[in-house]
Amino acid sequence: MTGEKINLIILKECSDIGNEPIIEKCMEWGILKREVNCPACAKDNYISKMKLRKDVSLLEGYKWSCNKLRSKNKKKRKRCSFSMSLRGRTFFGNSKLPIWRILSFIHLWTKNVSTEVMSEELEMSKATVLDWCSFCREVTYDAMMVRNKKIGKKCSKVQLGKYKFGEKRCNKGKVVEGQWALGGIDELSGEIFMATVEKITSETLIQIIQKYVESGTTIVSNLWKELDCLKEEGFEQLKMNNEMNFIIPDTGSQTLKIDAVFRAAKTSLLRCHKNNEFFSGHVSKYLFDKSCKLRNLNPFIEFCKEAGNLYNPDKKETDPEII
Ligand SMILES: [Zn+2]
Repeated sequence: MTGEKINLIILKECSDIGNEPIIEKCMEWGILKREVNCPACAKDNYISKMKLRKDVSLLEGYKWSCNKLRSKNKKKRKRCSFSMSLRGRTFFGNSKLPIWRILSFIHLWTKNVSTEVMSEELEMSKATVLDWCSFCREVTYDAMMVRNKKIGKKCSKVQLGKYKFGEKRCNKGKVVEGQWALGGIDELSGEIFMATVEKITSETLIQIIQKYVESGTTIVSNLWKELDCLKEEGFEQLKMNNEMNFIIPDTGSQTLKIDAVFRAAKTSLLRCHKNNEFFSGHVSKYLFDKSCKLRNLNPFIEFCKEAGNLYNPDKKETDPEII
């Protein structure tokens, strides 16, 4: 992995120097924004960038504040006095924990450290650790499974796979069906998407492909009759017969990497004894790890970027959060 070195000592030392270095780092990593628009001005259709001002009564000693003079009528000019904490509407939200401890948590979480160790090392209660694990999973879930981020492009190949996680079984007298997932991996960039689907039909598969894969991409998959209409939807298609271990000549496509991703995701879920209730969140964490590894990216920094995307103070409250 290339790039910046991060460990608990670096995070703590950065925070010990003062508030400014850790705020600057958070802005560099994207978990805090460098610029935030004033929501009060936005309500009156004005765009005003707030400034960071000192406020010793707050945790990091800074708040966002607006002093825009606004009015169409010069006689009734009014100065906006809106202000909000630096943490307001960010991943750090209403937490009272110092930022370095939350960042340290993220660092350990992206390294798949056990909850017991995190609880011990960061002196957090088990309940707090579990809460933060869940907040972190929301970020990877949004990044990997909700946000409409397309992979692939013209002349690139995306391998497509489907997998059923969890077999039909009885749970407390109720029959629990397995969960179908459809996933794709860009052969070149290593970017991954995965989406859960109730039922595998031509319609549901095409909907997911259109949502997650750029038009014009070559789709590499096994022989599924549900995908026979892909060409009509603007995608090229390469079919592989996996059961016969047959690799189509002249294409250069190797065996399906996506199948290995699914198998590893399943093993990872079984190891953690996860049940279907948290299925999507845990799979998204696995995918996030895998995607960072394949792209040689630092998972901590990638996580910060994604957390900044999900918890963006500029996001209007009326914006659709989740599709
Ligand atoms: Zn304002």
